[in-house]
Amino acid sequence: MALINENYLRLQGSYLFAEIARRVNKYKTENPDANIIRLGIGDVTKPLAPAVIEAMHKAVDEMAKAETFRGYGPEQGYSFLISKIIENDYKTRGIHLDEDEVFVSDGAKSDTGNIQEIFGLDNIIAVTDPVYPVYVDSNVMAGRTGVINDSGRFEKITYLPCTAENSFTPELPKNRVDMIYLCFPNNPTGMTLSKEQLKKWVDYAKQNKSIILYDSAYEAFIREDDVPHSIYEIEGAKEVAIEFRSFSKTAGFTGTRCAYTVVPKEVIAYTASGEEHQLNKLWNRRQTTKFNGVPYVIQQGAAAVYTKEGQKQIKDTIDYYMNNASIIRDGLKSLGLTVFGGINAPYIWLKTPKSLSSWEFFDKLLKEVNVVGTPGAGFGPSGEGYFRLTAFGSKENTEEAIQRLKSKLDI
Ligand SMILES: *Cc1c(COP(=O)(O)O)cnc(C)c1O
Repeated sequence: MALINENYLRLQGSYLFAEIARRVNKYKTENPDANIIRLGIGDVTKPLAPAVIEAMHKAVDEMAKAETFRGYGPEQGYSFLISKIIENDYKTRGIHLDEDEVFVSDGAKSDTGNIQEIFGLDNIIAVTDPVYPVYVDSNVMAGRTGVINDSGRFEKITYLPCTAENSFTPELPKNRVDMIYLCFPNNPTGMTLSKEQLKKWVDYAKQNKSIILYDSAYEAFIREDDVPHSIYEIEGAKEVAIEFRSFSKTAGFTGTRCAYTVVPKEVIAYTASGEEHQLNKLWNRRQTTKFNGVPYVIQQGAAAVYTKEGQKQIKDTIDYYMNNASIIRDGLKSLGLTVFGGINAPYIWLKTPKSLSSWEFFDKLLKEVNVVGTPGAGFGPSGEGYFRLTAFGSKENTEEAIQRLKSKLDI
């Protein structure tokens, strides 16, 4: 008799986006003429940069000839891409990395989900609340948590509330935690940590021999000076942090798939008897066993992001999204709403007016102005009373949505 991994039974259904779709479809059936604008999209909408397309076409042609054809590549990624990542994303910020500390992958989602495999099951994990669900669910699947309780929190996970009261910066936990997931600029709140605030976490990790799993998927959206792009800008972080980056939001690769994870050789964790081990070696072993690398064509496309034209083109696209972000921010503020994020991230996180719940505000926005966003409560209990709008729509739709809010929303 084949038994299942019963940890999977503890997972919550993917309720959030299914419930949004259900409510939108119901409304559309009842109001077939409504022109609905979606500002809940967590996906990019602009096409790949021309430099990327050109490099991928060239790589496809190489695959068509025996002399330049490539089969299995290095599981860790091709050197031509890794060297550009180090040169452009790290060396420019004074961070030295060796090529064997960077692992190219098919996504920060897969890497942030898979990384927990190289850690012991007895580790206590800490996540911010609200949170990107992958960090929690991958640990539930592995059996590192208990069951979910009535407040929507899993037992054995330490939740770090991020609300307006603490300016969306998590406070250090009172109990000891071993693996800490941090994502800044944050999805969903759009908020950041300053270097000083991030240093507190690095110091905590050093003191407690914990590991920080730092998701920096939105670093390309940072506009302010004091906001760290990489956790390795903080002294000592190379001993305690693994960093996840992705071409998804930076360069429109959500459907193309390319990301990378940095595991410095200094990062160590322990056996139960206290023996030290490099996480770099464990992750390398995990990847070489279970992953066969990102396609050559895609890695050539990613490498083209670092050409002069590539950099200019992706910057223009990010500027376009960030212009939408300010349209949303300014518009909501002029309505007297309390607004967070949207300065260093493509997400705007607003406090619902009149103490409406996240879902009550969702329905109100849908019915009164035909605009769809994402209820904050869907990202965790501390997201209740908040609402997420994203900057990934078109400028026209974003402007139209804000115009409708200004003229028709009853607040
Ligand atoms: C979009 C996103 C990513 C990127 O994931 P990919 O698998 O690389 O597309 C990573 N982390 C967060 C928090 C995100 O929102």
